[in-house]
Amino acid sequence: MREETCKLLIIGGGPGGYVCGIRAGQLGLDTILVEEDTPGGTCLTVGCIPSKALIHAAEEFHKLRGFAGGTSPLGISAKAPAIDLAATVSWKDGIVERLTKGVAGLLKKAGTRVLAGRAEFVDGKTVRVRGPEGVCEIHAEAVVIATGSAPVELPFLPFDGKVIGSTEALALDAVPERLVVVGGGYIGLEIGTAFAKLGAQVTVVEATNRILPQYDTALTKPVLASLKALGVTVMTETRALGLSDAGLQVAQGEDYAEPCDLPADRILITVGRRPRSDGAGISELGLTMDGGFIRIDATCRTSMRGVFAIGDVTGEPMLAHRAMAQGEMVAEIVAGHRRRWDARCIPAVCFTDPEIVSCGLSPEEAKAQGIAIRTGQFPFAANGRAMTMQAETGFVRAVAREDNNVLLGLQAVGAGASELSAAFSTAIEMGARLDDIGAVIHAHPTQSEAVQEACLAALGKALHI
Ligand code: FAD
Ligand code: NAD
Repeated sequence: MREETCKLLIIGGGPGGYVCGIRAGQLGLDTILVEEDTPGGTCLTVGCIPSKALIHAAEEFHKLRGFAGGTSPLGISAKAPAIDLAATVSWKDGIVERLTKGVAGLLKKAGTRVLAGRAEFVDGKTVRVRGPEGVCEIHAEAVVIATGSAPVELPFLPFDGKVIGSTEALALDAVPERLVVVGGGYIGLEIGTAFAKLGAQVTVVEATNRILPQYDTALTKPVLASLKALGVTVMTETRALGLSDAGLQVAQGEDYAEPCDLPADRILITVGRRPRSDGAGISELGLTMDGGFIRIDATCRTSMRGVFAIGDVTGEPMLAHRAMAQGEMVAEIVAGHRRRWDARCIPAVCFTDPEIVSCGLSPEEAKAQGIAIRTGQFPFAANGRAMTMQAETGFVRAVAREDNNVLLGLQAVGAGASELSAAFSTAIEMGARLDDIGAVIHAHPTQSEAVQEACLAALGKALHI
């Protein structure tokens, strides 16, 4: 058996692990990253990037279908478009390949060694890797667990070809005629909307009483209206029971006493993701856990000296940019820098139609913390740029402390609103007040003017409403 030693060993090459690997290499740390699949992890190979590629293709197709009727107010008409989903998927695979190769190149450039194979802890400082080049035992001074997450499967609906997870949904070679999506959260609605735009008849089955329960109803209302306009059936307070001859059997109503059958060609299960903390000998380390998540402190240290954990395996929010920020911080800590997690906010974007972006506290969250607030809202219907883009649905909302006007939160729902996330997080991280943003000259005509106006509205002095 081959043996290696290193200063830092990273298990998992997703956004958390690979960013940690790049920064560690740049800092001159002798680093090995072990990845059993493709560097880039869930995000690059089967998550963020592939889903956004599909969403884009679906939007283009949907636009053309809108023009095909010849009734567009823009005066554009077109012939009925066709979609070759296998070609779309192959285009998406090309983007994934470019990005994953790019990650491998960046790790190499930084001087970080990448070892292909599955890592398993022997003890807190020793990891055995089984891969194409045989077995290798690695002794490290510090280890980072960045093993990520995997989709939750419903025991009575195992993935089998007809019942699929997001990975399979992003690699279909034809648009299913009838798609039932179980779970009306991030993945179910992003992918469900895309397939509705591609022509599938989509039904969303959600256990709670509303879609996207992590966002307030003011933000989700326009998304629900748009799903309805697309012909998507949304069934809330509904539970999947199991397969039926035609598709999926579900139960609705009080005590779920009303069973009904939903015909389906594919059933997409998107009921959350679970941390990958149960394999790789992690359980045997006896780390302090929060449920299935590895408990970490403000420096991403676990309860075992020299063992760090980052990304989805450490808990919510399970977002790529949180994993990346943790990865960069841990590399710097191992290199001897004084760092700790002091982010005020982690922006979240849901790429539905319209998009939702949220940064910091919502009005309800601020009130729940006992903070007296003032809020301001500006509708895109009063924004010139939004009108020229036929994107008048939605609004920007500012939440600030009542006593000193410091911004606590910024949220928006609207077409293309994801791109406002940088302005939102920058304002909150810089400790901006309503009047700071209100006084910044925002370019005209842009959607970002609605951010300035929402802050002015909170001060009672909006200009264009
Ligand atoms: P992962 O990306 O899961 O990477 C973990 C890596 O570890 C994997 O490559 C795995 O192969 C490897 N690994 C695990 N165990 C071992 C072992 N024992 N040995 C060797 N290697 C191992 N987030 C966003 O911020 N924005 C989005 O738009 C977004 N869209 C998403 C869409 C979908 C469909 C999905 C599924 C997720 C999406 N996410 C999005 C979430 C995002 O993908 C994750 O938050 C992110 O990938 C987490 O990064 P990570 O490094 O913690 O783990
Ligand atoms: P989610 O938590 O967003 O949504 C799961 C939904 O399924 C919830 O609404 C829940 O109430 C519902 N549900 C749970 N059990 C159910 C059941 N038995 N029947 C019907 N409904 C049920 O989870 P997800 O959509 O699987 O996404 C997982 C994670 O991936 C997200 O939490 C997020 O962190 C990440 N993600 C992020 C993005 C983004 O940033 N744009 C996109 C996709 C995924």
